[in-house]
Amino acid sequence: MLIERILSEIADRREELVELTRELVAIPTLNPPGENYLAICDFLGSRLKRSGFAVELLRAEGALADSNRHPRWNIVARREGSSPGECVHFNSHTDVVAVGHDWTVDPFGGKVKDGRIYGRGSCDMKGGLAASIIAAEAFVARCPRFRGAIEISGTADEESGGYGGVAWLAERGYFSPPRVHHVIIPEPLNKNRICLGHRGLWWAELETRGRIAHGSMPFLGECAVRHMSAIISEMEENLFPKLAARRTEMPVVPEGARQSTLNINSIHGGEPVQEEGYGGFPASCVPDKCRIVLDRRFLAEEPIREVKQEIRSLVEKVAARRQGFNWKLREFYEVEPVATGREAPVARAVDAAIERVIGTKPDYVMSPGTYDQKHIDRIGKLKNCIAYGPGILDLAHQPDEWIGIDDMLDSAGVMALAIASLLGEH
Ligand SMILES: [Zn+2]
Repeated sequence: MLIERILSEIADRREELVELTRELVAIPTLNPPGENYLAICDFLGSRLKRSGFAVELLRAEGALADSNRHPRWNIVARREGSSPGECVHFNSHTDVVAVGHDWTVDPFGGKVKDGRIYGRGSCDMKGGLAASIIAAEAFVARCPRFRGAIEISGTADEESGGYGGVAWLAERGYFSPPRVHHVIIPEPLNKNRICLGHRGLWWAELETRGRIAHGSMPFLGECAVRHMSAIISEMEENLFPKLAARRTEMPVVPEGARQSTLNINSIHGGEPVQEEGYGGFPASCVPDKCRIVLDRRFLAEEPIREVKQEIRSLVEKVAARRQGFNWKLREFYEVEPVATGREAPVARAVDAAIERVIGTKPDYVMSPGTYDQKHIDRIGKLKNCIAYGPGILDLAHQPDEWIGIDDMLDSAGVMALAIASLLGEH
């Protein structure tokens, strides 16, 4: 039977999967600033060409953060079947976040121990990328006469918003029919989970403005920091408890993220921090400016205009009872919550494949934060998209990040069976 043949083909490629993951981890694609994107695209390109894919390398010229020093390179590889049909696309981001401290192994060494591969990006998400490549190659080896096409992309900048990666490609039709019909993003959500989408996001900067004066006579000025602190107190007393009490029907994991949240990302007020090495004291001034950056994550049940109005009303309330300050809200960007239906064809195919390979019904989840699905939904207008891949989400961005080899193999099996049910023999 085709299913057995595909699964045994994947089992035979265990060593290959380990080596491929290690080779990907060894390319330090740190973002920011966005290093070695061309190197990883070249590596993926020559591998996928060998297995019969047509390969395109695309630089996201003009995209946010693209520069000659740090060009945003992406790869899209496509393997045509033997007859017309739909296209199944696996999209992985190639960038990894900063290494950080407290590692006990070389973050780019790809150390293998006790059935795990260690390294920055092993879990998020080079392990998932490698699993999707092995899945596609194993499927093609056992079912060369398939319908439609399989695509694999490696894209830049997911960790910094995806504007030089999936967003740029989506604007050029790479994530829409007639080119692509089903998208699986192998982010590390666990091999038995299907991620349908994510909460919404709104980033904004709030500034209070007072008046500068000599610090020995603060009554002659207006302290922007005190005004901001009144706003933050109001948030503590009246906003944070309200957000925590809101619950969503979205199956967000972890459980704590089923409420609405606000993070105060940063605060700056008064004199700028002096350069390192400056040995002097600060000057005596009343700060005339204070800024906070707000990272608001909201639920499908909350309309975005209410999310924004809630903050505005809170600041207006504080301003009404305190004299002497102006304020300004600058919006950075927003993303609406995204949710693919469980009945979407790609979700149904992965659901059945999980049951076959892992032996349990999948859990349907949603992510607290956004990922590249937002661009596929918003720009590509493709709703038939899920995240599914090996790895434990909590390990992402941590020191001693790792991915389990058995989990990668199981996920590769799930991915290959999903391809088989969507494009299989005819
Ligand atoms: Zn990721």
